[in-house]
Amino acid sequence: MVLNQDIEHVKGIGPKRGAVLREEAGISTIEDLMYYAPRRYLDRSTLLSISECRAGQEVTVTGKVIETIIERRGRSLLRVIISDGTDSLAGVFFGGIQYYQKLFSPGENVLFSGKIDNFRGLKQIVHPDYDFFDESPSESVHTGRIIPMYPSGEKLKKAGFSSRVFRKLIHSALEEVFVNVEDPLPKELISQHGFLSLAESLREIHFPQSFEALSHARIRLAYNELFFLQYYLALSRGLLRSKITRDKTPLDKTYYNQFISALPFELTSDQQNAIKEISDDLANPFPMNRLLQGDVGSGKTVVALAGCLHTSAWKLQSAVMAPTEILAVQHHKTFTQFIPTGVRIALLTGSTPAKEKKRIAEDTAAGNIDILIGTHALIEDRVQFKNLRLIVIDEQHRFGVNQRALLHQKGNSPDLLVMTATPIPRSLTLTLYGDLDISLIREKPKGRLPVKTLILSEDREKGLYTSMEKYISEGRQCYYILPLINESDKSGLASAVQMYEKFSITVFPHRKVALLHGKMNSGEKDDVMNRFKTGEIDILVSTTVIEVGIDVANATVMIIHHPERFGLSQLHQLRGRVGRGMHQSFCILFHPKNISSETKDRLSVLENNDDGFAIAEKDLSIRGAGDFLGTRQHGESSIFEFADIVRDFSLLESAKKDAECIIEKISDLEHEINEIKIRHADTRYVTGTRLTKVLSLIS
Ligand code: ADP
Ligand code: MG
Repeated sequence: MVLNQDIEHVKGIGPKRGAVLREEAGISTIEDLMYYAPRRYLDRSTLLSISECRAGQEVTVTGKVIETIIERRGRSLLRVIISDGTDSLAGVFFGGIQYYQKLFSPGENVLFSGKIDNFRGLKQIVHPDYDFFDESPSESVHTGRIIPMYPSGEKLKKAGFSSRVFRKLIHSALEEVFVNVEDPLPKELISQHGFLSLAESLREIHFPQSFEALSHARIRLAYNELFFLQYYLALSRGLLRSKITRDKTPLDKTYYNQFISALPFELTSDQQNAIKEISDDLANPFPMNRLLQGDVGSGKTVVALAGCLHTSAWKLQSAVMAPTEILAVQHHKTFTQFIPTGVRIALLTGSTPAKEKKRIAEDTAAGNIDILIGTHALIEDRVQFKNLRLIVIDEQHRFGVNQRALLHQKGNSPDLLVMTATPIPRSLTLTLYGDLDISLIREKPKGRLPVKTLILSEDREKGLYTSMEKYISEGRQCYYILPLINESDKSGLASAVQMYEKFSITVFPHRKVALLHGKMNSGEKDDVMNRFKTGEIDILVSTTVIEVGIDVANATVMIIHHPERFGLSQLHQLRGRVGRGMHQSFCILFHPKNISSETKDRLSVLENNDDGFAIAEKDLSIRGAGDFLGTRQHGESSIFEFADIVRDFSLLESAKKDAECIIEKISDLEHEINEIKIRHADTRYVTGTRLTKVLSLIS
């Protein structure tokens, strides 16, 4: 056996079963098999027999399924009775009864973990954590007291790949290829961190001698994943920098001070820091690649403007791209308000009249415009710059890679500043944007009244409507957000269309109510948003399409109906639409009567917290990184096999540092990148498929 040997050619597997392994477990080669991580471990020394279990204990037991019994008294439930010869025990399931009954057919060997209850003299575990295996633990060969259990879904099982078969396959493969596993990490790093070798780590992850050894192995494998991603990102960045030679363009201080002193407010110290970091970058002979992260309302626009002015002072051009017309118009207004005389600025969007478009395009090409603000219209072919130096992209996740690339091509190695109000936790930015520098604005401008957040149950509907009426009669405006456009029979959730009708016909017939949702075309949406901005609309009933970044200071009430359907960060984002002016603002989380206490706890995080980053970290720890990245939609639970960027955060930081340290000593970065691509393209532990996957997620 060799590492890159096709799994089909392993004795006893063959093409048919090989295909199942490839499709169901992602295993194509012997090496893939080595990286097929156990899902859990069974500690034989702590396994109890059922007769030894006592009520209140957290235990793991194993046994054979004897029978399944459905009980229908009040709430229906399913009892799965298992026995290990010493006694019997019931696993109890509420809900999904048919599913569980099929799953636990009599004769199956199962493992249950959970807390033992006593129910009329019978031992039971309610909703046990469960697993299947195909032998009793005492029979398992090749193992010490810690037995690996492998993921083995329906199709794998059918093809004969049970946990035991995986164990045997991996055991014999390890024996044969152990000496051939090369360690890709530099020796100094291995000794500096006190790591196990790669081969040892692989052996220990499958057949650990102790839980301590297992933990060392996991850390080493997690480090591998993190290190090589950081290494690759740092290489790309280094290469990009080394290739470019531009003149230095330091900040013109007098010019800058004039701009600052003309502002009608004092910049927060976070804004000042961000401006300093950006202008240091802009002065460099290599391009800036920076993410400006700031909670909603933290004042990112004026920071971006400072960057544009730094650039225009050198007679170089800037482009500012926003995802929607409304936002572009808003930016143009803000810029115009604060810009020093002499700096030429223009707005280009889809609805700019053709003649005007033509004129702006000509002026831009001739260098008569310093700052061009707009929507996707900036990407169009007809827009060419004389010397585009700085690109600012607002709410960058709303643009595709190609759109950003097209704008980038219009300049000659331009500086890039991307802005986002979506608080991405540092653990994630480091992993995914390892090649981006980050400026943070955490502080809100002074004098803002914090938004008051209330959690309110649906049976207080009348009171809610009375308050809405009160604020509207004082001249304020309300947002009313729902998770669905239309009613869906199954969910029983209130929908935007339904509430819009209820408000405009029954509850607030004397007020101006409008509806906004994603199925409307962009002209209709813009029209509604504009009427809301001008104060013509009192209540805007909407799904979450309401613009991130929209600034309507007079809207002071944000009601989120069915907050239980949203993530914490999303709720915080929505809340950020209010609290922008001088009036006290409110955010009301309006939930159905019977939500679980967990959901209540989750919502109360918002009640007690106003810091988007803290909320995002909480969200990340509740939902997991996969969810955050939207990888769930890609059908994957995690981008890494062994690393967990929340738990392994300090490992991630040292991986980044280590990678940067090594790259400083490399003289030919291009050669090294090509080497990596050739040498490691197909190997699992370095870049290979996994890196490709990660990179496709982040771009
Ligand atoms: P965001 O970071 O959400 O894009 P904006 O840049 O739209 O925030 O700023 C929100 C509002 O706050 C704008 O009206 C802006 O002029 C104002 N603003 C920005 N900085 C300050 C400050 N330091 N003090 C007071 N108001 C500010
Ligand atoms: Mg903004």
